[in-house]
Amino acid sequence: MTAAEQQISGGFRAQFGGPPQVLVRAPGRVNLIGEHTDYTEGFVLPVTINRAVWVALRPRTDGRFRLYSQNFGATVERAGNPEPLVAGQHPEWQDYVLGAAWALREHGHRVDGFDAMIAGDVPLGAGLSSSAALCVAVCFALARAFALPIDVRRLAFYARRVETGYIGVQCGIMDQMAAAMGLAGHALLIDCRTTEARPVWLGLEARGIAIVVADSALPRTLAASAYNQRVAECITATDAARRLFPARAIATLRDLQEDDLPALARALPETLFRRARHIVTENGRVQTAVAVLGHGDVTALGGLLNSSHVSLRDDYAVSTPELDRLVTLARAVPGVLGARLTGAGFGGCTVNLVERTALAAFQERVIDRYRAETGRPATMLVCRSANGAAY
Ligand code: ADP
Ligand code: MG
Repeated sequence: MTAAEQQISGGFRAQFGGPPQVLVRAPGRVNLIGEHTDYTEGFVLPVTINRAVWVALRPRTDGRFRLYSQNFGATVERAGNPEPLVAGQHPEWQDYVLGAAWALREHGHRVDGFDAMIAGDVPLGAGLSSSAALCVAVCFALARAFALPIDVRRLAFYARRVETGYIGVQCGIMDQMAAAMGLAGHALLIDCRTTEARPVWLGLEARGIAIVVADSALPRTLAASAYNQRVAECITATDAARRLFPARAIATLRDLQEDDLPALARALPETLFRRARHIVTENGRVQTAVAVLGHGDVTALGGLLNSSHVSLRDDYAVSTPELDRLVTLARAVPGVLGARLTGAGFGGCTVNLVERTALAAFQERVIDRYRAETGRPATMLVCRSANGAAY
């Protein structure tokens, strides 16, 4: 047993008496490139990180749920069938756990009650997908505890179902697939149309390069409404593209290429054209990122992160002055290969590729200047890539 496993196991014993039957770890993730491309069936390239949610679990035979969260220091007891939250209801930590039982039962799997302890070090609500890590961990734990013959891919879909069907968040499949199927040393290239996923070797550690997530400390207040607006704009742009190219099968903006952009520019209003151009060029950047990683060209990868940010800022309009500052300050530090906002935007985090020898200077300078200019306390997380859920 690793030290982490011993700690989780010990916590379970202290809470419930006796050992857990299963112990599962599922990691958070940072999206390296491919932003806002998931809902147009495009490509994303997340990296699973060395921050994770743990679940220690023991099945029961009386239908009861006894749940303990180490992070919240709280216990919850329930009996009966968990029911999805109603619209507007604020999700609590236990809802993600009960939602996993609901999602598996919804698909006909026999899941009884259980005792479970949850613990983790993925920052909550920071855009590193602690919720997906939690849902994946609980789904994996239940599959094992109740001997359900479900493969890893399907468990990732059940984990998403917890968020879409029980919690009420319309998320894509990226976070759950990353948490379930990520591989240390690799990013995960996901085709959001087919949901095929393939590991892509990063080679960053051998080259002395770290992935640093910088939290802007800016609340994502506008994120939800802007997100819905972008989704709608993409649908309108797709309709226009269909009229423009009637002979082609265009299901989403994924079906457009860079060659199509001049014609689109003439046919679409400026704003809609810019939205479409971001999606088309961002899908191209993900493909290019995979190609340059194949040659070990991390400098080129950094450049792609930089152009992704420009596109998110100027064409997709999901950045803020604070995120722009964080990116600009980062790039001014020698040894920074690239930086961009990651996640939906309007606050949240940036992802940075930084030479390890420059890490101390990077953290100090960016945090100091960002505070001086914006008054906000940015926080940094130096990440290593990690394996997906293990059980
Ligand atoms: P994100 O997924 O970006 O971290 P969300 O708001 O989607 O943010 O999910 C965060 C929520 O997930 C938390 O508020 C909490 O309810 C739940 N959660 C995540 N990790 C844990 C944990 N280790 N223990 C208990 N609850 C957790
Ligand atoms: Mg989440």
